[in-house]
Amino acid sequence: MPESNGYNAHFRCFRGCPGEWSIYDVIYTCPTCGGLLEVAHDVDALRRRSAQEWKTLFESRIGATSWPYGSGVWGKKEWVIPSIDDENIVSMYEGNSNLFWAERLGKQLGLPDLWVKLCGNSHTGSFKDLGMTVLVSVVKQMMSMGRPVRAVSCASTGDTSAALAAYAAAAGIPAIIFLPQGKVSPAQLIQPIANGAHVLALDTDFDGCMRVVREVTQDNTIYLANSMNSLRIEGQKTVGIEIVQQFDWEVPDWIIIPVGNLGNISALYKGLKLLMDLGITNKMPRLVAAQAEKANPFYQSSLNGFSEKVTMQSRETLASAIRIGDPVSYEKAVQAVHETNGIVEQATEHEMAHAAAMADMTGMYTCPHTGTALAVLFKLRQRGLIQSNERVVVISTAHGLKFTPFKVGYHEGTLKEVESEFANPPVYLPPDPDVVMKTILRKLEASPFAS
Ligand SMILES: *Cc1c(COP(=O)(O)O)cnc(C)c1O
Repeated sequence: MPESNGYNAHFRCFRGCPGEWSIYDVIYTCPTCGGLLEVAHDVDALRRRSAQEWKTLFESRIGATSWPYGSGVWGKKEWVIPSIDDENIVSMYEGNSNLFWAERLGKQLGLPDLWVKLCGNSHTGSFKDLGMTVLVSVVKQMMSMGRPVRAVSCASTGDTSAALAAYAAAAGIPAIIFLPQGKVSPAQLIQPIANGAHVLALDTDFDGCMRVVREVTQDNTIYLANSMNSLRIEGQKTVGIEIVQQFDWEVPDWIIIPVGNLGNISALYKGLKLLMDLGITNKMPRLVAAQAEKANPFYQSSLNGFSEKVTMQSRETLASAIRIGDPVSYEKAVQAVHETNGIVEQATEHEMAHAAAMADMTGMYTCPHTGTALAVLFKLRQRGLIQSNERVVVISTAHGLKFTPFKVGYHEGTLKEVESEFANPPVYLPPDPDVVMKTILRKLEASPFAS
């Protein structure tokens, strides 16, 4: 067993069934009830360091070159996987992403304290890197301990597979990727191909791929890398901690995040809760789950007060990374919403594309999922639920560059169910200085920045 500096973490049943298992065991669900596991930390041991000591330690590691602490995830190693050997960590120095002050967009909404956490500014261009560094590192540790794992595998709506393929390639571990055929962006499809993963495109949707990967990984030599594996959540939870740290350890009033399989929002909650448990913060932000109307089982569940989990056949949406009809981390996400007085809201195709375009006009370059979260922000602001003096963080989960057809379609006015109010097509002109100058003057008068 690797060295753990007195801190410890293990798997246990999220619903509370008895039993605990090593992080290095191949186990994904509770053998008693079949529910999800979670990584439980020895919080008493963590409390032996004061809140101030933790803050100072974590701050000292930002930008550090001493391996692996310059990573936003591994800079908090004691809270993530304390026992892993540093030489088995597979990291691209993910995390520590920019918390962008959305000043101009905030002004338009009457919200001067609006921030966008740019998680897409990361090695593979999405939030998923945060969780994948942890999972692949644990696999590398398991292999070094002689466990019989020989490959990692996931079903994906695009970003999970890009992250898994890159981290697995960096570690020299084979990756097997299941994608729903024709339902991921061209950039997302080429990422795992370029990284040498075995890409299997199935004639089904994400939920269909998920069923297949669960079967395939019954064979314990192929390790499951989806977020039902709670190791992913441990890395992803650092985003909440990082946001609070970036505000000098002040907790924002609201955090809005686009949700599909519901791992991210569960992770966000878990990180923020740990800050409370260690006395570093004394309140929780209200968490808002933003869904695409075409794939909205969590929104529908919220309408029935979460009395039962709704599942559905997801429909085609621009927000393809959250096109999921049967979310795996449902119970964890219900807790996240319940315990933070949270809200679930949805956005139509038009609303998400419109919000994304508006944000882009203020200098961002937003993916459709970020657009979904922004559209939900617009609604809650309009309803007066979010007030002008409140501090709001929107989590941008992927880089807009992964979704070029979405951008092109918007500005060409060809997206289904979307009215492209801010379409800004190029102007085709002869190379004639007079014509060019006249056009420039006409453009500047009509410019959205003219005022
Ligand atoms: C995975 C993903 C999400 C949603 O995260 P879940 O854990 O599935 O809820 C949102 N946006 C993007 C871009 C993603 O890749």
